[in-house]
Amino acid sequence: MTPSAHLNDEARWAACQGRDPNADGAFFITVRTTKIYCRSVCPARPLRKNVVFHATTAEARAAGFRACKRCKPDRFGALGETTA
Ligand SMILES: [Zn+2]
Repeated sequence: MTPSAHLNDEARWAACQGRDPNADGAFFITVRTTKIYCRSVCPARPLRKNVVFHATTAEARAAGFRACKRCKPDRFGALGETTA
């Protein structure tokens, strides 16, 4: 995995659109209309204008979002938080 490939929001969004497996767990998306956070490969397809990117699930939770039940981002969050 190369986190440097997903440094800016446009690259992150492109990875979401393509469901890039290398981006899975590298960042998370939050959807302000639904107040959930998701993995980049989540089958849910929010509108770009409603999406904000976060490096960790802890960051998303701190912003008031909850985990998506479809893609279960906390599977990755547990790993990320131990190294943060
Ligand atoms: Zn999701």
